[in-house]
Amino acid sequence: MNESYDIIVLGSGLGGLAAAFEASRAGKKVLLLEQHNLPGGFATSFVRGRFEFEPSLHEMPNIPSIEEASGVVRYLLDDAGLNIDFETIPDAYRVILTRGGVDVRMPFGVGAFINTIEKQVPGSREPVTAYMELCRDIQEAFGYLSRNEKKVDYRELMRRHGNFIRTGAATADEVADRLKVPPAARDLLYPYWCYLGVPTNRLSFTIWAALLNSYISGGAVIPRHRSHEISSAFVEKILEHGGRLRFNTQVARINTRSGRVVGVTTAAGEEIHCGALISNASPTLVFNSLIHPSTEVPPAARKNINARKHGFSLVVVYLGLDAGPEELGLQDYSYFIAPHMDTRALYENIGNLECRDIMQASVCLNVANPACSPPGTTILALTAGFRSEAWAAVRPSNYVKTKEQVARKLIDQFEKAVGTSILPHIEEVEVAAPATFARYTGAYDGIVYGYEPEPWDSIVPRAMAEEKEHYFENLRFCGGFSYRCHGYGSSILSGKSAAEKTLARTGG
Ligand SMILES: Cc1cc2nc3c(=O)[nH]c(=O)nc-3n(C[C@H](O)[C@H](O)[C@H](O)COP(=O)(O)OP(=O)(O)OC[C@H]3O[C@@H](n4cnc5c(N)ncnc54)[C@H](O)[C@@H]3O)c2cc1C
Repeated sequence: MNESYDIIVLGSGLGGLAAAFEASRAGKKVLLLEQHNLPGGFATSFVRGRFEFEPSLHEMPNIPSIEEASGVVRYLLDDAGLNIDFETIPDAYRVILTRGGVDVRMPFGVGAFINTIEKQVPGSREPVTAYMELCRDIQEAFGYLSRNEKKVDYRELMRRHGNFIRTGAATADEVADRLKVPPAARDLLYPYWCYLGVPTNRLSFTIWAALLNSYISGGAVIPRHRSHEISSAFVEKILEHGGRLRFNTQVARINTRSGRVVGVTTAAGEEIHCGALISNASPTLVFNSLIHPSTEVPPAARKNINARKHGFSLVVVYLGLDAGPEELGLQDYSYFIAPHMDTRALYENIGNLECRDIMQASVCLNVANPACSPPGTTILALTAGFRSEAWAAVRPSNYVKTKEQVARKLIDQFEKAVGTSILPHIEEVEVAAPATFARYTGAYDGIVYGYEPEPWDSIVPRAMAEEKEHYFENLRFCGGFSYRCHGYGSSILSGKSAAEKTLARTGG
């Protein structure tokens, strides 16, 4: 009853962990409350038989400096000093478009990436080079913004990074149209769209450009011991800095008075006071159900969450196979498989469970991390986007069967595209659907991708509106639903930033 903290962090996803780490390293009295029995949210691991599966992370861009906005690996290792072993991913991705006869291995490195596209689509070098140069410009502008976060000189930004301003309201397609990137080249350029979950005709060019450039120019890595390794390393550091963590502790209410958060009430009825709160749970959850009394929620906050569009959820088929990758003919880490790369049509199909034009982004963990499973075995995860609404009509009695049907379609698509046989080799299988993600992370409707990053609601407009949308003076948000949008790097860096802003107000 008498417990009181400078800062409570609600939720131990990557955003919450980074926020608690930064606040505790600044010497604040910090309490992190997590409803699950483990830290990490999506960044965790689970074991079935002799396999330890990675539930979420496909890859993180390996940008060489912290100063660049997406240099999150350097932040983790050099600034935060976390003890994490990273493995390097060999190639960017293999794209297989079954209806178009496309099967191409895309390398990391901008020059090699452009050469590969030119080889497949002769005459595309010039527009693709211009597109990639523009992507680099955008990422450099992000670097400038993150270096000057405390006081941005907009004149300087316009002078140095005019393209950042010019393309601010554009979609990925609009820029490709202007630069006359041929459709066949877009087939090879666009597969990462599924990591942002918005079709390229609506996708904010700004965030797309930063994502594409950061992966292709920097390469990518994964932690050796699954993403649980990142979460555990954060926990270790938070404890080292005197922060406290409590698991199996759900926050049932955020108590407020006169526009300020005064504390929380846990599901067990315990009241804990705080000077400030950082929420890793989404604004949708906080403003719709956690703020108490609900009359304290300003109408503008409700309008704000209702105006945004929830991103999509996923289905993942986690497979532990009783044959090694060589025997199965799996040479690639990352496979993007679809009938075509018309992102608008692919997006439309994620709204139902018919699995007609489905795109899967699948990963063979052993190719980047050979020791991830016992010799002579393979870990393969097949992932496809689905909107949560697609599952709305599925009755509980039909749920397992429906998951199995979708899983079979994904396995079938993978086998045919890659020319392998995996069904007879399944030793362990687990299928995650939106309900699974909702259950383990508390995410509303099992949404994995936060709010959709369209030009009007992507990272730049969100960052610019952040202070106006700061409805409670001592409440900040971090994680995939906050201003940097979803993803490992974004969630971690948003937690860092939420802590820094909270500390600035509380004199830390
Ligand atoms: C299959 C899959 C593949 C992905 N691949 C990639 C990838 O390759 N690269 C990439 O960058 N991103 C990827 N992502 C996305 C990435 O995992 C997420 O964007 C990121 O982990 C979200 O972190 P977060 O900080 O928002 O926290 P979350 O992981 O959403 O965690 C929130 C935490 O808050 C807790 N919580 C919620 N409500 C309460 C409450 N009331 N009380 C107490 N605790 C509460 C939850 O239990 C949870 O632990 C993938 C996700 C999935 C599912």
